[in-house]
Amino acid sequence: MDTSHRNRYLEAIGIDVWVRRAGGPLGALEIPERVQAVSAEPPVLTAEVAEPWQALRTEILGCAKCGLHKTRTQGVVGVGPQRTDWMVIGEAPGAEEDRRGEPFVGRAGQLLDAMLRAIGLDRRTNVYIANVLKSRPPNNRDPKPEEVAACLPYLMRQIALLQPRLMLAVGRIAAQNLLSTDLSLSRLRGKVHHFGELNTPLIVTYHPAYLLRTPADKRKAWEDLKFARSVFRQLTDRVVIDGNLS
Ligand code: URA
Repeated sequence: MDTSHRNRYLEAIGIDVWVRRAGGPLGALEIPERVQAVSAEPPVLTAEVAEPWQALRTEILGCAKCGLHKTRTQGVVGVGPQRTDWMVIGEAPGAEEDRRGEPFVGRAGQLLDAMLRAIGLDRRTNVYIANVLKSRPPNNRDPKPEEVAACLPYLMRQIALLQPRLMLAVGRIAAQNLLSTDLSLSRLRGKVHHFGELNTPLIVTYHPAYLLRTPADKRKAWEDLKFARSVFRQLTDRVVIDGNLS
């Protein structure tokens, strides 16, 4: 991705772009040149990969394990390629997601897309996006513990099917539930956590809806994304050096 493209993405997120003056100090937003490219097409899947996803989808759409099925329009499963390295996990569908059946398609979703594009990720090609809850809580209230308990196994199955190399939890609810902690988001940011039996690296950042309310923190979110990208590169570099690339 060239610099002008990247700067346009950062401007779309609402981050002022600083440029390096000739011979001067680095701008606060200087970005390394090697940015993961967005490939044109998602991979073609075999039936072996696609079928368990389809079964999971059918279950989620018919789920009545908690009271939210009575008020939702539809279950919101997830979006993105069923084989890919990056997974983003949010909280729960909002009104627009409930209506359209896809995660992060409202205003917060547009910001999330712009943030992901700035590090070369796109839900159509190389990042899978899902939520902790698959049904919308009325009035967008926080999920209740019994709703999370009922729904989390679906997310666990999505993670097991995808086997992402890196997970990005957006917002406190996703981060706390995935990491089984009540630490604040600010305590959880800026480090690599590990998730599940595969010890998948997990990084925490702000929820885009929070960033819409608190634009001053977008710069910190950008730091988180750059951190995630650098962790991903280290992982993939190490895999190549070890000769273990599958
Ligand atoms: N907020 C979320 O956490 N998830 C969505 O899908 C939409 C808004």
